[in-house]
Amino acid sequence: MGMTKDAPDRIVLGNVITLDDAAPRAEAVAIRAGRVLAAGKRDAVLALKGGDTRIDDFGSATVIPGFNDTHAHSDSQGLKTIRPSLAEARSVDDVLKRISELAKTQAPGTWIATMPVGEPPFYFDGAQKLAEGRLPTREELDKAAPKHPVYIAAPGGYWGVPPCTCVLNTAALSANGITRESQPAWPNITIHRDASGEPNGQITEKAYVTLTEQDLLPAVPRFTYAERLEGVRRALPFYHARGTTSIYEGHGMGPEAIACFRELHETGELTMRSALVISPTWASAAEAEPIMRDYLAYARGNGTGDDMLRITGVFIAYGGDKVIREVMQRDVTDVGFSGFVKSVNAPDEFEALCELAGRYDLRVNTIVSDKLHEIVPILERVAKKYPIGKRRWVLEHVSRSKPSDLERVKKLGVTVTLIPPHYVWKVAGPFMSMTDEELDYLSPARALHELGVDVSAGTDAVPNDPLFCLWVMTTRRERTTGRIMGKNGRVDNALGLRLLTTAGAYLTFEENVKGPLRPGYYADLAVLSGDPIAAQGDDILNIRCEATMVDGRWVYGDKAAGQA
Ligand SMILES: [Zn+2]
Repeated sequence: MGMTKDAPDRIVLGNVITLDDAAPRAEAVAIRAGRVLAAGKRDAVLALKGGDTRIDDFGSATVIPGFNDTHAHSDSQGLKTIRPSLAEARSVDDVLKRISELAKTQAPGTWIATMPVGEPPFYFDGAQKLAEGRLPTREELDKAAPKHPVYIAAPGGYWGVPPCTCVLNTAALSANGITRESQPAWPNITIHRDASGEPNGQITEKAYVTLTEQDLLPAVPRFTYAERLEGVRRALPFYHARGTTSIYEGHGMGPEAIACFRELHETGELTMRSALVISPTWASAAEAEPIMRDYLAYARGNGTGDDMLRITGVFIAYGGDKVIREVMQRDVTDVGFSGFVKSVNAPDEFEALCELAGRYDLRVNTIVSDKLHEIVPILERVAKKYPIGKRRWVLEHVSRSKPSDLERVKKLGVTVTLIPPHYVWKVAGPFMSMTDEELDYLSPARALHELGVDVSAGTDAVPNDPLFCLWVMTTRRERTTGRIMGKNGRVDNALGLRLLTTAGAYLTFEENVKGPLRPGYYADLAVLSGDPIAAQGDDILNIRCEATMVDGRWVYGDKAAGQA
């Protein structure tokens, strides 16, 4: 028995993948004060045991470094549990029954605002899957809840696949002032009408960006601060249950969402290592300058915070339709499920904002999509004045790309986060006309890695399961056709696992303390039912997370309950 004062708090036994190149496999991990004390052979690690050391034996289960979901959208996943669910409904009748039940429990005149029809998390084909193959009508909802405004939300492009349709009853239409004459500002929205020209209660949005509530439905209740806080609170176990121990919210978070994380950290409830990028509320570069100069001083460089919560850098959008900005600027606090302010910048505005961010050392995070060839030249000009590579600016959501642009990314020295489930699996339709060779560079994890770019992967909550993301990266199979979206773009399991675990630490300048299960590093780990490196193809989908540890404490699994 070792000296108790230096002995580990815990020893975790299992099939350990350390992702430490010096010793990639182990049978045991010893943990003390939230850090890895040792990883190695079972007997050698057990020899460190002291009188108070707890032994957590996971048998043949696999222990890996915790997942670092570098594009998590965690808050939005928690918010999905706040409004009543219709997931159980299999027919229009089921929906109406549920609405009338809700009407019985709520005071007349109060809003019944539900989640979409269909099965979470994607709600694919929600209406078509109902027995009647359609959504309820306005009149049916009127009958089910004659004294309440009723709103059945659309899944929207972030979860489902556009076009997506919401339904309102007569009281809800009138509360929102929707009449025969109403026209949306956002041209991707259609207000459906009956034969006489009256709105029939259905509103469809065909764009990926979801704006119906902001554009047309001011009376639909928004999430209160308390609800958003509860959403973030519920998101934590939902992500821990997937083995996630760190998140990087690179799409940006609006002020209220950041405030929620801050409050949970203050109350000791924040069990996720959370790095939050600021989603700005300014309307122009002129407005941005004093904000960056004065109020965002705390977000400069690697930001401010500690090992659990860090506010770092800003999100700057590139491109987009100006109507989005017009609609969002009506009330920038109205961020809905997304938690971030949807923003739009023309190329010259983007460059001006990047220049300002460079001047004030605010790391820029930007969504690239298929515009890498437009964004790279802008960043090359900014890089002549400011060390954006050294400051680890972040390119996100890269979809189609060319090898020459990726080489320029490497020269810039910036870092890249990818969301393969989104572009390769879920909404690959726009890329179907590309050749197999071109597809190798869609969401180009492998190409970027081979170039030596610091690249990591995130789930984009599509779904929030890093093992699903691993399956997508290793198979690259498209959702509707099964087509392999660029076979040379596939990564092997070991690389995929790295991109989802250790790679993300670079985003927060923590690569010397977070990631591999190596002495001195954070004791953040996940226990999986199978070995994600040994698993072949679809077997990855059968692996489940059994337990998750952050900072040396179990936050998910049997051992988390009742833990001192
Ligand atoms: Zn995103």
